[in-house]
Amino acid sequence: MGEETTVAPAGLGAQAAELLSELIRLDTVNPPGNEEPAQELLASRLTDAGFECSLLAAEPGRPNLVARLPGEVEGETLCLLGHVDTVPADASEWSFDPWSGEIVDGEIRGRGAQDMKGQVAAEVAAVTELARDGWRPARGELKLVATADEEKGAAIGAAWLCAQHPDAVRADLVVNEGGGYAFELGERRFYSLAVGEKGVSRFVLRARGTAGHASIPGLGENALLRLAPALARLGEQPPLEPSPVGVEFLSTLLDEDLGDADPRALEGAVERLRSLSPKLVELLAEPMLRVTLVPTRIRASEKANVIPSKAEVLVDCRVPPGGGADQARARAEVVLGPLADGLEIEFMKETVGNRSPFESPLADAIAAWLAEADPGASLVPVVMPGFSDSHWFRKAFDAATVYGFCPQRTLGLFEAQLLVHGADERAAVADLELAAGFYFDLCRRVLQ
Ligand SMILES: [Zn+2]
Repeated sequence: MGEETTVAPAGLGAQAAELLSELIRLDTVNPPGNEEPAQELLASRLTDAGFECSLLAAEPGRPNLVARLPGEVEGETLCLLGHVDTVPADASEWSFDPWSGEIVDGEIRGRGAQDMKGQVAAEVAAVTELARDGWRPARGELKLVATADEEKGAAIGAAWLCAQHPDAVRADLVVNEGGGYAFELGERRFYSLAVGEKGVSRFVLRARGTAGHASIPGLGENALLRLAPALARLGEQPPLEPSPVGVEFLSTLLDEDLGDADPRALEGAVERLRSLSPKLVELLAEPMLRVTLVPTRIRASEKANVIPSKAEVLVDCRVPPGGGADQARARAEVVLGPLADGLEIEFMKETVGNRSPFESPLADAIAAWLAEADPGASLVPVVMPGFSDSHWFRKAFDAATVYGFCPQRTLGLFEAQLLVHGADERAAVADLELAAGFYFDLCRRVLQ
């Protein structure tokens, strides 16, 4: 990593804002996705600037974009990653048109402004500015990868790319979505660095009984009534448990060394944080420090007049990186207590979460940028409760360091959280400028 620092050129934020407007106007709601026009727009910008672009599609009309800018000699590859599809938007819940892309009062409006066309626009504005000016990596390679289908599981997006075109997307250092949100605690400001994602171990919790005609309650044994007390128990969550990232998160925010904290000490630390910021505990600390169990769907008799012989609740269970069904089952049994004995637990296809180390040269490079961009602010590692394309890159490329980081401060953590997948999604032009400046700086810092 070099020492050279650079100030991003004026106008980079405006370029990113205009590109974001254009991307929002190209509707990529998934399903059906229809990512092609957005990918072609990005490819033409990148090609004009000197990138070699390829559109790789598992399905017609839904390509992924891989843009490469090789350096003069071999070295590490930095990949700026993003997805161009979005979740749907119900226009009746919005106070403006979700696909207008209008810029009003310093904000760009529309679906995808936060998740994540804004970051893609900032990345593309930064790298095209660099490459157009004749900049090339001294060593290694710069890649920009824009995927399709992130919002529906990535089967024709990142998962497919990493499996079918590993050489095209192979990278040592990857920067994707999920982090970079600023928040304040007392006098200090922090930016989250997303170093990992929890896994998903969904299961069906099932009670059995005996069917009978619903006109005579005594005829059957109602499975729904057997399930009900267990369902009520799922209002509670399993105990907190130490995890490396969770402990580092608490230690950084509380300015304490919680390195050897046992569960009780951890509870105490979480309570101290709660007294400073209940929202931080709810949004980040608790999901990071435990397996979570949320019942989402229930099913019993198929017929209105039949006592159900079987009742099932689907439980969406999220497990810290590295853990899977065994850990999920053990924690569910703790919550259910003696009720667990009479019930069946059946797991669906699981995804084990993964993470990168929170100390690395890439983290150092991000911290060095932050020290100049927002002196006095600190990075704090987090594990995302949800899921992102980062997962596929970590899984495919063992040695890769993969983080989520797109700095934003004008609309910080708490505001952005409501806008991602929510109504009236928008991004601040000032944040796009901050983010584009960061990507501009990171490329030069890392690929010297
Ligand atoms: Zn996203």
